[in-house]
Amino acid sequence: MWGEAMTDLPDGKLYVAGEWTTGSGAEITSIFPADGSVNRVLKGASEADGLAAIERAKGAQADPAWRNLRPHERARILTRIADGIEANVDRISRIQTMDTGKTLKETRALAASAAGTFRYFAAALETADEALTTQRGDALTMSVHEPLGLVAAITPWNSPIASDAQKVAPALAAGNAVLLKPASWSPLVSLELARIVEEAGLPKGLFSVLPGAGREIGNLLVEHPDIAKVSFTGGTSTGRALARKAAEKLMPVSLELGGKSPTIVFADADIDQAIAGVLYGIFSSSGQSCIAGARLFVERPIYDSFVERLTAATERLRVGHPFDPATQVAPLVHFDHRASVAKMVDAARAEGAEVLAGGRAPAGETYDKGAFYLPTILTGVDNSATICREEVFGPVLVVLPFEDEADVIAQGNDSDYGLASGIWTRDFPRAWRIGRALRTGTVWINTYKQFSISTPFGGEKESGVGREKGRDGIRAYMAQKSIYTDLTGKPLAWAGAA
Ligand code: NAD
Repeated sequence: MWGEAMTDLPDGKLYVAGEWTTGSGAEITSIFPADGSVNRVLKGASEADGLAAIERAKGAQADPAWRNLRPHERARILTRIADGIEANVDRISRIQTMDTGKTLKETRALAASAAGTFRYFAAALETADEALTTQRGDALTMSVHEPLGLVAAITPWNSPIASDAQKVAPALAAGNAVLLKPASWSPLVSLELARIVEEAGLPKGLFSVLPGAGREIGNLLVEHPDIAKVSFTGGTSTGRALARKAAEKLMPVSLELGGKSPTIVFADADIDQAIAGVLYGIFSSSGQSCIAGARLFVERPIYDSFVERLTAATERLRVGHPFDPATQVAPLVHFDHRASVAKMVDAARAEGAEVLAGGRAPAGETYDKGAFYLPTILTGVDNSATICREEVFGPVLVVLPFEDEADVIAQGNDSDYGLASGIWTRDFPRAWRIGRALRTGTVWINTYKQFSISTPFGGEKESGVGREKGRDGIRAYMAQKSIYTDLTGKPLAWAGAA
C-alpha cells in the first residue's frame, strides 16, 4: 500500500519565489520511518535560494495588487486554499505519513485541521474590525492594523501540515508575504501545501517553501534585515538561540517550544476516563508531541492500583505499521530520534528508574527495519530526576505519587517548562483551583490533547512566548497604527496667531 503512496510524493522541487526549482543547497533525504526506505532525496534551499525568495517576496508584498486587496478578497484566497487541502486530504495524509511515520488516521486529522485553520482565519479576517478609540480631544482617534511585511515561519517535523497552516494562514490573512522553512526530516508535505497555495491563486512571490538546514537557511531568515517577524515552533534551545539573534535586530518573534507537561489523577477521578486520557496524552503520536503528558502524578491512595492498570493497558496498545488502521503507536520519525529516546531511557535506568513497560524497541518482522520504540512507563524516581526535567519527545511516561493539592501544585510547577497540564477529578472546584494555580498555557480537565483553532495556544516559562490561534492570531502578524485626524479646522493654539 505504501508503494502506491510513493506516487503521491512531490518530485522534490522547491517552491522559491513563485517558481518550482531544484534547490541549490545541501541534500535532504526524506525516509519512511516504518522501514527506512528512501522517499525522496532532494536538494535543500541554499542561501542564494533564500535571498531570491526574499527579494521576490518584497516586491510581491509591496505590490498594491496584494497590499490593497480588501480583506474579504484576501479571505477568498484563504478559502480556496482550505478547499484545495480538503480536496486533497487523502493525498496529503499519505505524503505526511510517508514523511513522518505517523498513522494515516492521525495525518488525515492533521490535514483536515489545516483546512479548518485556513477557513477560520478567512472568517476572522472578514470580521476583524478596526477601532475608533474614545475621543479625548479635538481629534478623531483610530487604531488600525497594517501587515508587517515579510514573515518567516519555521516549523518542526512532528505535525508539519498543521503547524505550517497555523502560521501561514494568519500571516497571509494579515497581508504579509510568508517564507516557510519546514524541518529537514519532513520537507515533503510543506511542498505539497505550496502546490495547493499556488493553485488557489495566491500571487507569485508571496509564498516560498525553503526546506534546508536550520543553521543555513534558518539562520538566513532570522538574521536578514527584511524579515520583519519569525514565527517559530521547535525545541527550546533552538528557540532561545533564535530569540537572541532576533533581539539584535529588535525583531518580534513568537516561540512555541518544548514541554514536560504534568497530568494529575486524583483518587476520586473516573478511573476508566483517566486511564484512556493518560494513554492518549502520552502515547498518541508516539509521544512526539510538545504537549505530551509526560509526567504523571497519581494521588497516593490509588497509586499502586492505578499504575498496575495503566501498565496493563499500555502493554495492550497496538504498535504497528502507520498504514495499518489498527495501529495506535507508529514508528518514531527517524532512526536518529529513536536513538536519542533510547539514550534518555537508558540514562533514566542508570539514575535508578524502574521500567514497568517498554524501555526498548519491539522485535519481529513488522518492526525490525523501522524506527519503532515501545510505549514506556518509568517509576521509582522523583521529580528532580533528569527524566522528569528534560523533554524526551517520545513514548515515555514517568509516574510519580503525590500527597495532596499543595504537593501536586508544587511538583507540577517544578519544571522549566509550562506548556500544558491535565487534571482528572470529579471535584470541579478543586480542578478549577489547581488549573488556575498551574503555570501552563493550557489546562485540560478530565480530557487531554483536545484542540480548537478558536482557542489561543502557547506556553509559559521555557515553553514559549506569544500565542497562536484564536481571533487575535491575525493581529500577531500585524503592526498596530494610531491615526489622529483634526476635527477643528483651526491652527494648533501653541503656535499662536500666524
Ligand atoms: P528543532 O528546534 O530542532 O527544529 C525546529 C525547526 O527549527 C526546524 O525547521 C529546524 O530546521 C529549525 N532550526 C534549527 N536550527 C535553527 C537555527 N539555528 N535557526 C533557525 N532555524 C533553525 O525542533 P524539532 O526537533 O524539529 O521539533 C521538536 C521540538 O519542537 C520539541 O522540542 C517540541 O516540543 C517542539 N514543538 C513545540 C510545539 C509547540 O507548539 N509548543 C509544537 C510542536 C513541537
